[in-house]
Amino acid sequence: MEHVEFNKDLIEFLNSSPTPWHAVSTMKSRLDAAGFQQLDERDDWSLDRNRGYYVIRNGSSIVAFRTGNKDVSTSGIRMVGAHTDSPCLKVKPNPELRRKGYFQLGVEVYGGVLLNPWFDRDLSLAGRVTLLDEAGEVQDVLVDFRKPVAFIPSLAIHLDREANSNRSINAQTDLPPVLMQVPEDDTTSFADLLSQQVAAESGIKARKILGYELSFYDAQQAEFVGLRNDFVASARMDNLLSCYIGLQSLIHTSGDEAALLVCNDHEEVGSMSAEGAQGPFLTAVLDRWCGAGKARAIAHSMMISADNAHGVHPNYLDRHDENHGPVLNQGPVIKVNHNQRYATNSRSAALYRHISDELGLPHQTFVVRSDMGCGSTIGPLTAGNLGVTTLDIGVPQFGMHSIRELIGAEDGFTLFRVLAEFMQREKVF
Ligand SMILES: [Zn+2]
Repeated sequence: MEHVEFNKDLIEFLNSSPTPWHAVSTMKSRLDAAGFQQLDERDDWSLDRNRGYYVIRNGSSIVAFRTGNKDVSTSGIRMVGAHTDSPCLKVKPNPELRRKGYFQLGVEVYGGVLLNPWFDRDLSLAGRVTLLDEAGEVQDVLVDFRKPVAFIPSLAIHLDREANSNRSINAQTDLPPVLMQVPEDDTTSFADLLSQQVAAESGIKARKILGYELSFYDAQQAEFVGLRNDFVASARMDNLLSCYIGLQSLIHTSGDEAALLVCNDHEEVGSMSAEGAQGPFLTAVLDRWCGAGKARAIAHSMMISADNAHGVHPNYLDRHDENHGPVLNQGPVIKVNHNQRYATNSRSAALYRHISDELGLPHQTFVVRSDMGCGSTIGPLTAGNLGVTTLDIGVPQFGMHSIRELIGAEDGFTLFRVLAEFMQREKVF
């Protein structure tokens, strides 16, 4: 039952990564422990063969790679991509709301949040704070309140008799979480609360809070679920599961081949940012690594874009094409969309199936119903930017973009085994 150990470590990874900044910081510690060296984009780089490096941009995106022992222009790079962000509720810049003595915070909806499950949850708060410290320096600090500090109560059914048939959610008026009760003349500012939290967590005294990006998250920890532990439930499975699988694949493989993992922020809002997959981050790293040999290196390379897929829901069977309904625990899902919402082509899919077959592991294939629109991933963006042959794949899950998502306990480990083999494979094409 190797997948049990794998999932226990996954659970730890998920619990320590409530935001993209925390996810990158978790990945950084694991890369450091594995002997990878951090590179700063402001410095001159001189890269050695047979070494591991990583580059972080904005604290929320990361490119980690192993240089291998060959000339990349003739042997290529085995690349895996994923995204660090998940849909959530972010605190507004001037967030304080006081009504009937309740202290609440205004929130902005980030990405395609499935809003209903956010009600009646024990919510915590985490993210990045930028402050002026006592020495007069501006610095970034990560904060994570960890314990439940807020709640979005449902309206009782007695006050809305149509709640089960007809309730819709107004994101402006229905979502502000309640944090505490305060006296009439209260003047608490959110910045004060943040300063206290920063001091308690890291001992840093803030002269002034200058900015922040903070999001609420479910304080309930990730966990095995099911009578026979068939499943793992957690927030942010989409797409920290793929970040974790990619990271494990990179760290636990070695050999002569060059391999790379890119985890971008901002996929859930279209990826167009300095650190998003539509931005120049990965290209900039490859330019500096491969130099004049980059075009040839890309032609020898392949990218596997890993992002979760929709498992067919037993209560909603008609939402999937009858021949393309992935089932949890029956293998990772090759995602096909010939309109290029997914970057998979028949060659990249074939290579995956071939490796997976060699290892005796299961795989499935998804194509959306012809009368429905299709989601997308960083796959087509990276393929379009770099010109690299790309595969879109992902572990099937339930409840995508809910505050708590469910995967099969076996699929993550299966995908890890195939990606690990891919990363050290001598010949891709
Ligand atoms: Zn995703």
